[in-house]
Amino acid sequence: MSEKIVDHDPNCLFCKIVAGQIPSKPVYQDEDFYAFHDIHPSAPVHFLIIPKLHIPSMAQLTDEHAALMGRLMVLAPKLARQEGCNPYPAGGFRLLCNTGAEGGQEVHHLHIHVMGGPRPWLRG
Ligand code: ADP
Repeated sequence: MSEKIVDHDPNCLFCKIVAGQIPSKPVYQDEDFYAFHDIHPSAPVHFLIIPKLHIPSMAQLTDEHAALMGRLMVLAPKLARQEGCNPYPAGGFRLLCNTGAEGGQEVHHLHIHVMGGPRPWLRG
C-alpha cells in the first residue's frame, strides 16, 4: 500500500471508482471531488466524499491541502441537504474520517463518510 500522494493509484479501489472502472452510485462530482453512495450504508443517508487526487489518508495532508480540505468541509453540508438529511438543528448529519488501521480505515484513499437521516441509526 503506497503512502504517496499521486493523481491516480491503479491499485486503489476509490481511484478505480473515480475512473469508472468500478461502478458506483454518484451523488456529486466536480474537477476535484467525487461523492458516491456507500455500498454498505450505516444510516438512511450514507455517502462518501473523496478528493480525486489519491491522498491515502488525513495523515499525509500538508499545508498545501488546506484549501482543498476546506472546500470538502463546505461541500459536505450542501450534499447532506441535497441527499435528504433533515435540517439543522433537530436534523443533521455526522462526518467521519477513519485514518490508519488503528483509526478503522479500510480503504486507503482519503474519504469522509456523511451519515444522517432519522434515528435510531445513531448511537451516542
Ligand atoms: P470502514 O469500512 O471501517 O468504514 P473506511 O472508513 O475505510 O472503513 O470506509 C470504507 C467505506 O467504503 C466503507 O463504508 C465501505 O462500505 C465503503 N465501500 C467499500 N467498497 C465500496 C464500493 N465499491 N462502493 C461504495 N462504497 C464502498
